[in-house]
Amino acid sequence: MQAEIISVGTELLLGQIVDTNAAYLSQILSGLGIDVFHRTTVGDNEDRIAQSVKDALSRADIAITIGGLGPTQDDLTKETVAKTLGVELLFDEEAAERISDFFAMRKLPMVESNLKQAVKPASGRTVPNPVGTAPGAIFEKDGKCVICLPGPPVELIPMVTESVVPYLKEKLGPAAMIIKSKVLRTTGIGESLMEEKVKDLLQSKNPTLAPLAKTGEAHLRITAKAADEKTAGALIDGIETKVRERLGAFIYGVDDETLEHVIIRALIVRGLTIGLAESCTGGLISDRLTDTPGSSAAFLAGVISYSNESKVELLGVSEELLKKYGAVNGPVAEAMAEGARKAARSHIGIGVTGIAGPGGGTKEKPVGLVYIALSQGKDADSEAEKTYSQEFRFSGDRRYIKQRASQAALNMLRNELL
Ligand code: ATP
Ligand code: MG
Repeated sequence: MQAEIISVGTELLLGQIVDTNAAYLSQILSGLGIDVFHRTTVGDNEDRIAQSVKDALSRADIAITIGGLGPTQDDLTKETVAKTLGVELLFDEEAAERISDFFAMRKLPMVESNLKQAVKPASGRTVPNPVGTAPGAIFEKDGKCVICLPGPPVELIPMVTESVVPYLKEKLGPAAMIIKSKVLRTTGIGESLMEEKVKDLLQSKNPTLAPLAKTGEAHLRITAKAADEKTAGALIDGIETKVRERLGAFIYGVDDETLEHVIIRALIVRGLTIGLAESCTGGLISDRLTDTPGSSAAFLAGVISYSNESKVELLGVSEELLKKYGAVNGPVAEAMAEGARKAARSHIGIGVTGIAGPGGGTKEKPVGLVYIALSQGKDADSEAEKTYSQEFRFSGDRRYIKQRASQAALNMLRNELL
């Protein structure tokens, strides 16, 4: 079964409001296994609304309109749909009574136009509005239907859950399907390389596999459609196994799991603690790690060390080192990581130093050059058993470079914990 959504409102076209209702409805429909191949936005104009309804019904079984059910001049959806389908609108006594009560209860004056809303289709049914005055309507004609819903989300959402979903389920009958998704989250591999590795699987129809690019991450969404939860789950498992064979450790988590969450969990499981020394990331890595509830069991301290002096005083980086190489290089990052480990008295220390730009870059040390180091010891007070650093070159603006650097540091840490 196919449905289309028609959002009505000049405000939407002018960009004054965002179409959250259509996004909500799309999710509801996809959850029911109803395909949505088109969504339209149209202004408060009778001819264009009529044309959108005709177009939608030429392709789909169901058209759902949003908005324009109110009492004012520009609210013309129901009338237009009725005219387009050739379905009469009848006076709805019950709705009229409810509207009168609504005004009486609030001691508000009611005008004639308020009663304009009290209509129902001659073939179809009313969709009660438990929150506002305007009832919705379902028009039925030649095996197709048009569902008219009001614009305010506080009204639309309960109407969808209480009336529209049961109506659609009834219509779907045994064809009712469920849609299940799972997101596999990768980092450390570019989006195009990830796509390349699963290229053939992207052609799969059920389940489908879709790449989603995020800052410093690339995700893959698996979506399966089936009669029941178990069958959908089995379809997902099948393709997930193949994807995991190809992407291996680039996959760090699933669904809503964040990289920092996965890391904190791994640190806690291994009984390890961490301290940070951040220069160009300005505390972003500490911020991300501490977003995870329970992080205090693993995250001990973070030093934001911006100036050379603070690198010497707070982290014990040697002045000679800074004089010899400047602040942005591998040995300084390593000294910072060791200093962080000592300052925090943790098992692992991370040091990050780089040039976030836009100024401060040179030919040898361009904007986006970042060194990240990791230092690890057996316990908090022992000397480091290993310390290493890696060079990265990021592009983009200041914020983006900071984000990419924080991502790379977290990924380095994750790889160490694997
Ligand atoms: P009303 O009785 O309030 O006039 P209505 O059904 O006529 O309701 P509209 O006049 O189209 O609906 O929109 C009313 C308000 O609902 C808008 O100002 C906006 O705040 C919200 N709204 C409308 N359409 C959407 C949408 N697609 N997504 C999110 N909000 C919307
Ligand atoms: Mg209105």
